Amino acid sequence: MTAQSSRTAGSVSTGSVTLVGGGPGTAELLTIAAVTALQQADVVLFDRLAPNDDLASLAPKATLIDVGKRAGSHPVSQTGIEDLMVEHALSGQRVVRLKGGDPYVFGRGSEEVLACHRNGIAVTVISGVTSAIAVPAAAGIPLTHRGISHAFTVISGHAPLTDNELEGLTLLGSTIVVLMGVGTLPTFSQGLLRHGMPAAMPVAIIERGFSATQRTTVSTLSTVLADAAAAGVRSPAVLVVGEVVRLAFSGDSAAEDLVARAAEFAVSD
Ligand code: SAH
Repeated sequence: MTAQSSRTAGSVSTGSVTLVGGGPGTAELLTIAAVTALQQADVVLFDRLAPNDDLASLAPKATLIDVGKRAGSHPVSQTGIEDLMVEHALSGQRVVRLKGGDPYVFGRGSEEVLACHRNGIAVTVISGVTSAIAVPAAAGIPLTHRGISHAFTVISGHAPLTDNELEGLTLLGSTIVVLMGVGTLPTFSQGLLRHGMPAAMPVAIIERGFSATQRTTVSTLSTVLADAAAAGVRSPAVLVVGEVVRLAFSGDSAAEDLVARAAEFAVSD
């Protein structure tokens, strides 16, 4: 992680930065452009949610630097990440900044691009498969379905939503996908109910998509808090609120029972 500050400015040609969307956690969902960038990388700065099991073989020439944020601790701050990226690029290296999902979906990718611009570093962005779409799909949930939902909104649950946002989502009446939403689930679910969303609206929480411990909890808007607490739901997870959840087929009998229960609840509500 050393800065190449001992080199005299101007004595090496400037390197480059490529922001790479690493997809939702499995190397199989890396794009060909992502694989090529990794193969050519001298340095890879990677996140916790980016696929990192097989990184040494995907990026054989590269120094691998883990800048991932773990629950409760922040090994490298956002400014620290940007500084590392810039320092390595200025010392002539090809830097890959490997991020989970898509770099421009809540990934602070645009801040990293601006940091490169400020420092005169060539930067390119390789789109990735976002967890917002792929993780529900891994649980058998399509975000749109003809006759059921013709729109979806992807929203960050990092901070509680405003009343205007909750009202807007309720009025829109289509699929809602929440990332980083486990912590704000109480205010989110109560807020949607308060703005008139039906109590029986199906909700799915998919934890750790594409890992061996992927798990889906299916519930309804009025019961999701109790069900999430009973299941011990934890981040990282993607929340889906909407009728499309009824289409879920995860192959997991517990999830199917819950879908059936949500459907019964809706009929008798
Ligand atoms: N840029 C990323 C999102 C970054 S925000 C993307 O496009 O996917 C991080 C949030 O994404 C997590 O808190 C979680 O809500 C979601 N997430 C990312 N990968 C996930 C996975 N494999 N399983 C479940 N949720 C995931």
